[in-house]
Amino acid sequence: MIAAALPLADEKNPWLAAEVRFDNAAEKLKLDDGTRKVLKSPAREITVNIPVEMDDGRLEVFTGYRVQHSIARGPGKGGIRYAPDVSLDEVRALASWMTWKCAVVNIPFGGAKGGVICNPSILSNRELERLTRRYTAGIIEMIGPERDIPAPDVNTNEQVMAWIMDTYAMHVGHATTAVVTGKPMELGGSRGRREATGRGCMIVTLEALKKFGLKPEETRVVIQGFGNVGGMAARLMAARGFKIIAIVEYNGAVHNPHGLDIEALMEHRADTGFITGFVGGEDIDKNEAMFLDCDVLIPAATENQITSENAEKLRCRILCEGANGPTTAIADVILAEKKIFVIPDILANAGGVTVSYFEWVQDRQGFFWNEDLVNTRLEEIMVGSFEAVTAYGEKHRVDNRTAAYMLALDRVASAMRLRGLYA
Ligand code: GLU
Repeated sequence: MIAAALPLADEKNPWLAAEVRFDNAAEKLKLDDGTRKVLKSPAREITVNIPVEMDDGRLEVFTGYRVQHSIARGPGKGGIRYAPDVSLDEVRALASWMTWKCAVVNIPFGGAKGGVICNPSILSNRELERLTRRYTAGIIEMIGPERDIPAPDVNTNEQVMAWIMDTYAMHVGHATTAVVTGKPMELGGSRGRREATGRGCMIVTLEALKKFGLKPEETRVVIQGFGNVGGMAARLMAARGFKIIAIVEYNGAVHNPHGLDIEALMEHRADTGFITGFVGGEDIDKNEAMFLDCDVLIPAATENQITSENAEKLRCRILCEGANGPTTAIADVILAEKKIFVIPDILANAGGVTVSYFEWVQDRQGFFWNEDLVNTRLEEIMVGSFEAVTAYGEKHRVDNRTAAYMLALDRVASAMRLRGLYA
């Protein structure tokens, strides 16, 4: 199968992993070499070294990136993450996944991503604001409602988006809400955006359940991550009747075979800072919780969680990838052998960018939708995309991930061909 091209030593390099998936789909589509070359290379990349005055008066320099992988189908679109281990290769991979993600759900965007190497947990709020504004100033020529529209990702939130929006607005001389999505409601944010990625995961999981003849009430779910994606998915799925039997965080895991009370667990974490020590469940080994016997596993944290080293141990029937790149290309082969039904990241977590698209549309029209309309349209897109991907996979006898990539590559390649080359 597909991962043979990737040496084990490179398994966790996200850019190489993205290339393996790309090559596999391009090969099956019989894409010509030239188109492959163009689609593989990020259109634009920028590195900025950002001087920031710290609260104690010291000057510090942080490195940030913005990569626009493709702008063939529309402006670049994608989040910005703040983390100590951000690298250019990671941002490149994430940008390319945004291209394919937007194409899978057929929204009129290309793909982009940004990142700043920093540890936000040790930065004050004022330091974070100065860092965000200076990073924005560094990438200002690249972004804009028609160019490239950032959004939240790991460790960034509505407040960070508000600072980016304000910095951009000061440069162009007027408020420009459509330059970022995932903003606070007061600044042109969309209803339902905060829940959108988790809601999208639930919608595609419900579709997958139909294939297994399962009802939510009899479905046991394990979720890795309890942040914006995992936490929201847990909350919405528990309300829908799913049994969330375990939540796994980087610093602990909690288990209840009868289903956790997610609202109570959220309160417990807000009070204590931890999910462990919760009266409604038992603490279990965080390194083992992912391998509990369950129906659905939702990795909703970071990349490279399911690898050649542990994929064999998974005991789920459905894997719904809430995070970007949680499964390595080598692990894909093992999942296929185990006949696990994979809902690939570029489909499973596309609910976030889909409602970002709605937010951008609303900002540009200056006319805002109610939450029901947002959720109905999100459901329409997620269900339609799930059907398109799985039907494509069945027709061409390929797994869901390959099907999603093939659909996406085909759409981007045909947009490129129609535009032709400006030279
Ligand atoms: N960061 C999210 C993602 O990876 C959302 C991106 C967006 O809304 O532009 O899909």
